[in-house]
Amino acid sequence: MPLRFYNTLTQRVEEFVPLEPNVVRMYTCGPTVWNYVHIGNLRTFTFQDILRRWLRLRGYRLEHVMNITDVDDRIIQEAAAAGKSIGEYTEVFTQAFLEDAATLRLERPERLVRATDHIADMVALIRRLSEKSFTYRSDGSIYFRIAKFPDYGKLSHTDFSGIRPGARVDTDKYDKADARDFVLWKARKEGEPYWDTELGPGRPGWHIECSAMAMKYLGETLDIHAGGVDLTFPHHENEIAQSEAATGKPFVRYWLHSEHLIVEGQTMSKSLGNFYTLRDLLERGYAPEAVRYLLASVPYRKPLNFTFDALHAAATAIERLRNFRLRLESERFAEGTAERILERTQEAEQKFAASLDDDLNTAEALAAVFEYVREMNSAMDAREFRAGNAAPALELLGRFDAVFDVLRPSVPAAALPDEEIERLIAERTRARQARDYARADRIRAELFEKGIVLEDTKDGVRWKRRAP
Ligand code: AMP
Ligand code: ZN
Repeated sequence: MPLRFYNTLTQRVEEFVPLEPNVVRMYTCGPTVWNYVHIGNLRTFTFQDILRRWLRLRGYRLEHVMNITDVDDRIIQEAAAAGKSIGEYTEVFTQAFLEDAATLRLERPERLVRATDHIADMVALIRRLSEKSFTYRSDGSIYFRIAKFPDYGKLSHTDFSGIRPGARVDTDKYDKADARDFVLWKARKEGEPYWDTELGPGRPGWHIECSAMAMKYLGETLDIHAGGVDLTFPHHENEIAQSEAATGKPFVRYWLHSEHLIVEGQTMSKSLGNFYTLRDLLERGYAPEAVRYLLASVPYRKPLNFTFDALHAAATAIERLRNFRLRLESERFAEGTAERILERTQEAEQKFAASLDDDLNTAEALAAVFEYVREMNSAMDAREFRAGNAAPALELLGRFDAVFDVLRPSVPAAALPDEEIERLIAERTRARQARDYARADRIRAELFEKGIVLEDTKDGVRWKRRAP
């Protein structure tokens, strides 16, 4: 069976065939860096990592672009409250995101691009839309005229034909119920950062960012565009409108949307206050691999119910696989090769691949591996497993780990002696006193890399070792 994905646009599972053989051009919406990402966001990014890895194992070369949204309403608010420029403010959270991504072993996209580095591209795209009369101005802002784009609604499968033309919305996030002409360029507001451009002083709306950056690097038609389900409307619907109105070509061929991570029946979100960051979980002693495993284990089109029991179970599952690998590497098996076991190994490998080909069914893929491991442990106990069966079994584990990447333990925190930690903390304190926050943040990040977590309390800095 070929590789298949569920496409939100067609509402069907479809065979995946990229526009150009062997290359996949993919765009994923990255974080808005106004704070730390939470594990809900990381669920979506982990799904995209599994997608990347599976596409590569299937022989495709990837051209994957992810954006960093480093200007929006919340960033402007928070930066002002912190007395920083938006650049200073977002840099800290961009670095934090990159650290979290590295800790979770998320591969770096081929390009990671910041919105504020692409204002000129956004302006050019808005100009192109204006030339085709898809825009109008009001109070210095520029809006997209959705009545002029009959396909509006085709991604979220909503009929918008009855909406009142001319009604506008300035916020970037809104519901289908108040779908209106959305803002492409926001007029400068007193006290807010702005860019002086041919469109007048102002800043871009959120949606235009992604259309401009995606087409700049990947061309006018992409193979895959992915994000969390909440982005389907309005963000991705608006991306389609902007891009297709400008080019007259299909913008994206396969739209992949991942369901949310939920806690106690509600979606995890900053505004609900029910969130954990990766750092929260590591401070509680959980290993990054366990978090990664948990986030990857539920197929991306099913909601993932986060519980600490599930996180424990993930850690236990990894242990079982590591123990199996240890047995394969260290036990002495009788000479020869058991044909039945060799066949069983091939079968497990096929099931693993077939499950991932089936719209990335990670749960089935894991089930195939665990069933195999259970049978092989019994075969070893019964002395049926032979020396010649070990290499193929290890190969299967290798293939599993090329996707799930959980077998290698994170660097043990014991590597750094106490005195060295204290010395670095003192250095960081001095840097902070000298208001050299960049240096202080670097030291914190360096310690974090080595498994040391700092906590600033009113009685000074406390530190802990992260569990390996
Ligand atoms: P944001 O930084 O808000 O733009 O979100 C970054 C990514 O995380 C987007 O793809 C969102 O769809 C996704 N996301 C937000 N909340 C959740 C959640 N609770 N579970 C899974 N993905 C989420
Ligand atoms: Zn986007």
